[in-house]
Amino acid sequence: MNIQKSKSLFERAQNSIPGGVNSPVRAFKSVGGNPIFIQRAKGAYLYDEDGNRYIDYIASWGPMILGHAYEPVVKAIQQKATESTSFGAPTELEVDMAELIKGMVPNVDLIRMVSSGTEACMSAVRLARGFTGRNKIIKFEGCYHGHADSFLVKAGSGVATFNIQTVPGVTAGVANDTLTAPYNDLQAVEALVAAHPTEIAAVIIEPVAGNMGCILPEPGFLEGLRQICTDNNIILIFDEVMTGFRLAPGGAQERLQIDADLVTYGKVIGAGMPVGAFGGRSEIMQHIAPLGSVYQAGTLSGNPLAMVAGFTLLSELHNNPSIYQELDEKTIYLKAGLINAFDASGFPYVINQLGSMISVHFSEQPVKDFASASAATNTLFNKFFHAMLNRGIYLPPSAFESWFLNNALTYEDLDLTILAVNESLLEIQ
Ligand code: PLP
Repeated sequence: MNIQKSKSLFERAQNSIPGGVNSPVRAFKSVGGNPIFIQRAKGAYLYDEDGNRYIDYIASWGPMILGHAYEPVVKAIQQKATESTSFGAPTELEVDMAELIKGMVPNVDLIRMVSSGTEACMSAVRLARGFTGRNKIIKFEGCYHGHADSFLVKAGSGVATFNIQTVPGVTAGVANDTLTAPYNDLQAVEALVAAHPTEIAAVIIEPVAGNMGCILPEPGFLEGLRQICTDNNIILIFDEVMTGFRLAPGGAQERLQIDADLVTYGKVIGAGMPVGAFGGRSEIMQHIAPLGSVYQAGTLSGNPLAMVAGFTLLSELHNNPSIYQELDEKTIYLKAGLINAFDASGFPYVINQLGSMISVHFSEQPVKDFASASAATNTLFNKFFHAMLNRGIYLPPSAFESWFLNNALTYEDLDLTILAVNESLLEIQ
């Protein structure tokens, strides 16, 4: 595959952008090779600067659930842009958006819009601390909640991909307030709560983890967490930045039938525009400024272009719930193809999947937490990634990331992908 233009752009980029990229995993540093520079995308396909086409399983790391350049979203943004790109004053669209979200997700009385998933999680934790008057939080090894200081402790995603143990710049004081437990380990959480009975403000979790590959909560795990939080007056925060509006209209809360106290959103909520949100019961949310004194703000929060994009996409999802059924069926079809290909290859493998989130680990043992995800043969994944890329299939460039299906994918695309998997596994033998 000719990627000459991507190569020269990467060289140029490194002279003026750290590592040539504006977000670390994009650099292909762990998988090796030259990152592909994307020129445009439509539906399920990415087109690079050299004119190559790729079937996309990143979906911009989640947001593009109905595919790229989705016509109604594009039209809505174009129309809105003629009315100015930002006002810094309230708009009717923000009210429409809040009402739509409340109608889709369970358990949210009040919702505040922000501009990224990081901001949403950071603000939810501040609110939990302000509400409870406690300082510490519990997070899970391999979960990623954005790049705010409190979360960069045993984090997943790029932090895991680059094997960064401690992030310089995060003070010991902040890091000490973040306690960690292995995913799917209730006993570890119980032990932390017992050791700090009155200090823990919140437990924050990806209800289905997507930042160490895709990892599912074992039966009873989230239910147990819910109970521990209720019993100890700890705020349970579901980070639904990946799962929100993806696993069901009401996200993981709806799909897994568990209520969190606070929920955070990102990705799909903005249809590819910079949007995040956090919300929950009014008893807690009313402590946010200007109602209360837990301060949180944003110049571009509720930005009209972002709101119209998100509102248009969420309305489509709300009005056509069969989309979720279609996405599930496509993902299960892909999974069946992957299973056949991996069985034929002889490689040990684990495929975790829920809804349109799926990932493959080259592993002999079940992958249910960060330790088992790390023990997988990720060097094999890296080879597999390149073999797939050369065949026009764009997977996340790390085994520590979930793949995301979008509903523009056709069964022909899935068949092409499965063929590429078969060929790639032969190639990397
Ligand atoms: N939470 C989760 C579960 C995520 O996957 C991410 C980003 O990948 C974030 C939070 C941070 O979101 P953002 O990158 O929009 O700041």
